[in-house]
Amino acid sequence: KSRTPLTVFDQLESEVRSYCRHFPVVFTKASGHTLWDRQGKAYLDFFAGAGALNYGHNPPGIKEKLIEYLRQDGITHSLDMATDAKETLLTRFRDVILAPRGLDYKVMFPGPTGTNAVESALKLARKVTGRTSVWSFTNGFHGMTIGSLSVTGNRRKRNGAGMPLSHAVSMPYDGYMGPDTDTARYLERLLEDEGSGVSLPAAMILETVQGEGGLHAASESWLRRIEALCRTHNILLIVDDVQAGCGRTGPFFSFETAGIRPDIVCLSKSIGGYGLPLALTLFKPELDIWGPGEHNGTFRGNNLGFVAAAEALRYWEDDGLRRVVEAKAAAVRAFLEHLVGAYPFLQGEVRGKGLMQGIAVKADGLAERICSRAFARGLIMETSGPDSEVVKVMPPLTIGEKELEQGLSILEESVKDCR
Ligand code: PMP
Repeated sequence: KSRTPLTVFDQLESEVRSYCRHFPVVFTKASGHTLWDRQGKAYLDFFAGAGALNYGHNPPGIKEKLIEYLRQDGITHSLDMATDAKETLLTRFRDVILAPRGLDYKVMFPGPTGTNAVESALKLARKVTGRTSVWSFTNGFHGMTIGSLSVTGNRRKRNGAGMPLSHAVSMPYDGYMGPDTDTARYLERLLEDEGSGVSLPAAMILETVQGEGGLHAASESWLRRIEALCRTHNILLIVDDVQAGCGRTGPFFSFETAGIRPDIVCLSKSIGGYGLPLALTLFKPELDIWGPGEHNGTFRGNNLGFVAAAEALRYWEDDGLRRVVEAKAAAVRAFLEHLVGAYPFLQGEVRGKGLMQGIAVKADGLAERICSRAFARGLIMETSGPDSEVVKVMPPLTIGEKELEQGLSILEESVKDCR
């Protein structure tokens, strides 16, 4: 791929830092749904930090809280110590998120990022059940460390670990075998049949909408059947809400609409409120069996993350943001359906839910070409899916309606460029 040389970045950054390679500019500042490069050119953000910026860049209320906290010499790094900032976050998380939904979870800080939440969930499930294997799903993405990678469906990403990854068994996600095959029934049969040869897993781990794996969204009925299977066979259900959570699909938790109650929930990305690294692992109280030191980490006490996260939860004190997201999501859906209809060369299929929707296109490299045309026109977008076949629309949840429309019309122009 040709790209503009970025001098020091090209010389010193490893190829592993692949995200920024798609954008041949150096970014300088950002506010709300806009980023600016060194030349002062503005870009609309339809990527939102891969879901870490649900409230946009530098959201003013959170920014003020952080500045105030620093001014008062608030503690920034506290390992496992109790701090004011941690208490405020835990209290607000209980009052604003858990209690109104009738959810009873213990809250753990597993480490700074999404993969830490997943690792802690996998470890806990194995420890609680005394079983080793975990069932994951085709095209799922759960992180880049060895445990979370072992439950990630993408073979290319798994190969990055340089060896076969054990203890995870990949099962077909909802719709994987086409609309006529009931994959929940397949799982049920494997569990019931003595002859199936599969051993009982400790847990199943899934995303309700597959953020990196191509925006496949599980149906609510499938999720309920998976939950029922877990209950019947005493398997723990882990929902990885790292990307689909924090309102990305409308409600705070992506699984709320299905009415399921996972045993363990992983949160990260936008839980940090301000793009700050933070992760939470929620688990049912009876699963709290770890002794001191059985899961810890130096950056579990990121108080700037606590401050920003607590302030961000103010968005969830009523259902205003949820309604806004659902309205914008319906507008995005209608627009993407229009594109699929108006541009048959795409051979497009609209996928996803909420403000993580996109169009899967047929031709090789087409989604990437559309995204690079969009970038030239001042719109930042990324692809999703094992073959980068999906153009992903993922703006901050707080984007204005006018800017959302503006971004969508740039997308349409970019599609036309690729005809
Ligand atoms: N789970 C999901 C669903 C994700 O989308 C991601 C990140 N894209 C992760 C886990 C891993 O998070 P992190 O990159 O913060 O480790």
